[in-house]
Amino acid sequence: MRVKVDQPKCVASGQCVLAAPAVFDQDDDGIVQVLVDRPEAVHHEDVRESVAVCPAAAIWLEEE
Ligand code: SF4
Repeated sequence: MRVKVDQPKCVASGQCVLAAPAVFDQDDDGIVQVLVDRPEAVHHEDVRESVAVCPAAAIWLEEE
């Protein structure tokens, strides 16, 4: 799994960080930051939840 984000689309809601705090963070403006773009399997379910709850559809996954 590879995590991709489109920062210009991000509306700084923080939902991704709540769902997967090991993988996402926010900068000083609240814009998403990817901490780990190839998360370990233990985090995959959380990442998929982040994709589902992001109100801006700013996160997507590439399966490897
Ligand atoms: S959930 Fe989406 S809109 Fe909200 S901070 Fe994360 S990437 Fe940005």
